[in-house]
Amino acid sequence: MVGKLARWLRLLGFNVSYYSKIEDGKLIKLAEEENRIILTRDHELINKARKRECLSHRILLIESEHWEEQVEQVLDHFHLRDEINPNSRCLVCNTQLKILPKARAKNLVPPFVYKQADTFALCPVCGRVFWKGSHFLDMDKKLRRFLTSAGSSSNSSRS
Ligand SMILES: [Zn+2]
Repeated sequence: MVGKLARWLRLLGFNVSYYSKIEDGKLIKLAEEENRIILTRDHELINKARKRECLSHRILLIESEHWEEQVEQVLDHFHLRDEINPNSRCLVCNTQLKILPKARAKNLVPPFVYKQADTFALCPVCGRVFWKGSHFLDMDKKLRRFLTSAGSSSNSSRS
């Protein structure tokens, strides 16, 4: 229910673990151990997590079914807009990416990508290479929207 939200939060640079199928008890234990915030659309999970003192302020019921509104809700609720660091985290395994000099990317990406893209990043854990190129312009547009969105009042003073 929040898979796309998780992916987008990673894209914005946040440390996100995602489980589509996990027992509530296990998830709550993990959240406690790893000091995480629980984002869910599951009322039952919220009620269970509220009973845990250390989690009671670190849970958020995601209201919308639409991922863009979900992202907005999370950014606003936890005042995260200043901490957005796009394209800094692996979308697959959540590891912090390392900048990859263009010359070193040559043998790791298809030739047309190498030609078109200028910025490359490598995941040191799973080995995936990410790049910024013309294909991602639409994604970039959405990213900018989150960066500049006037959705929160705390944001208006910065514009
Ligand atoms: Zn990775």
